Amino acid sequence: MQYHPGWNFQNSYVKLPPIFYTMQEPKPVASPKLIIFNESLAEELNLDCGALQTEEWIATFAGNYIPEGAEPIAQAYAGHQFGYFTMLGDGRAILLGEHVTANHQRFDIQLKGAGRTPYSRGGDGRAALGPMLREYIISEAMHHLGIPTTRSLAVVTTGETVIRDQYLPGAILTRVASSHIRVGTFEFARKFGSKEDLKALCDYTIERHDPHILQEEHPYLAFLKAVINRQAATIAKWQLVGFVHGVMNTDNMTISGETIDYGPCAFMDIYHPDTVFSSIDTYGRYAYGNQPKIGGWNLARFAESLIPLLDADKNKAVTLAKEAISAYPTLYVSYYVDGMRKKLGLMSAREEDEELIQELLDLMQTYKQDYTNTFRALTLKKLEGAFFQTVEFQHWHQHYKERIKDQNPIETEKLMKQHNPSVIPRNHRVEEALEAAVERGDLSVMKKLLSILSDPYSYSEEQEEYCTLPECPDEPYITYCGT
Ligand code: AMP
Ligand code: MG
Ligand code: MG
Repeated sequence: MQYHPGWNFQNSYVKLPPIFYTMQEPKPVASPKLIIFNESLAEELNLDCGALQTEEWIATFAGNYIPEGAEPIAQAYAGHQFGYFTMLGDGRAILLGEHVTANHQRFDIQLKGAGRTPYSRGGDGRAALGPMLREYIISEAMHHLGIPTTRSLAVVTTGETVIRDQYLPGAILTRVASSHIRVGTFEFARKFGSKEDLKALCDYTIERHDPHILQEEHPYLAFLKAVINRQAATIAKWQLVGFVHGVMNTDNMTISGETIDYGPCAFMDIYHPDTVFSSIDTYGRYAYGNQPKIGGWNLARFAESLIPLLDADKNKAVTLAKEAISAYPTLYVSYYVDGMRKKLGLMSAREEDEELIQELLDLMQTYKQDYTNTFRALTLKKLEGAFFQTVEFQHWHQHYKERIKDQNPIETEKLMKQHNPSVIPRNHRVEEALEAAVERGDLSVMKKLLSILSDPYSYSEEQEEYCTLPECPDEPYITYCGT
């Protein structure tokens, strides 16, 4: 090949015991076409944008060309789906390998929709264009909101159709992650592997994500605590921006703390803890207000998987696991309340703050107020509209003004602007961008949206039109997994 884009594959996962993966080449597709490419991410990865977008190298994003050093695999994992344990694994995602940047950062480069694998069960191993573009938009928005997440490097169409409830254009997303190791990977090791397999996975993951822990006296317990801490921090960030993940199965919870699996997720407009978008979440297990609790449930499954490593005495190991898990609720609340204080511009911590926060949320719920825009209005001190005139809000506002009266107003506003995004990927905007791209082949709407979402805390004038609610905000928005 004439140009080299700078891929630097150094694969470590394939050195794990063989039960953890299967060598699996992507299945070549009819005619790859690049639909969208993430130049700024490519630059962060020290890749050459020009070379990557030439026809020869686009073939890599389709699985039609395997670059030097890549060793494609499908990863094995299990997981609890809606509370029930099952064997899973990469059914349509193929890991090309780990790309290492000049400053020694390691990233999984994965093709989502690259064909069947031994873990595909009844699935076709493929993905449709709409959902892959949707993942691209929302994962990139999450990144720019400052939330740990997998990222999206490119989407190609395959020139083939996929059959769902209709014929859809096939596509492949190149997903970039600090790793794809999941709670479900550990559940798999515990259930189907030997103690040596579990230990190998654990040592490997510690070295990859928490190398400082290797020196600790009890590295496995320290690792458990580190994962609990990361998940608590990530879930608090979801709550603070109104993100509903939608499918918090344990196979969709990373050990790195990065948000993964953008199938049925969506952002909440009007505040309500019971908000659910996913078509299959009938009982609201993964509703907005349940996410922190489910995070704890998932971490308990993680802790269970580690029990053989925590102590030679099983009872002691169980006690240690329980102790570690029992710290989660307090840890989560501290991240959440700390974030909420910043959203309200509170420079210090007082015990009564939690009440102030809850009262505001309750008012938003009662008066069906938009979550993001309520904080935006408080930040800009533009309290326009009937809600802000209600006696209850006025009463709350009095307390709030009292609480911040000794603070420097300029500093307060600055803090609020840094923590209240003025734009989020609102569902109607995402749909509008996808419709233009998929139905009309017009990528301009999506690119404009991506550019707006790349700077969510800027409070610039061009963001204004992206702050408005859909025409019928009460109309239910429904999302789907696995398309
Ligand atoms: P998810 O609900 O997205 O976490 O996916 C659950 C499982 O289904 C994972 O093991 C996926 O790899 C698998 N899966 C999803 N879609 C497909 C598909 N089209 N073909 C094969 N496997 C799939
Ligand atoms: Mg998944
Ligand atoms: Mg999925």
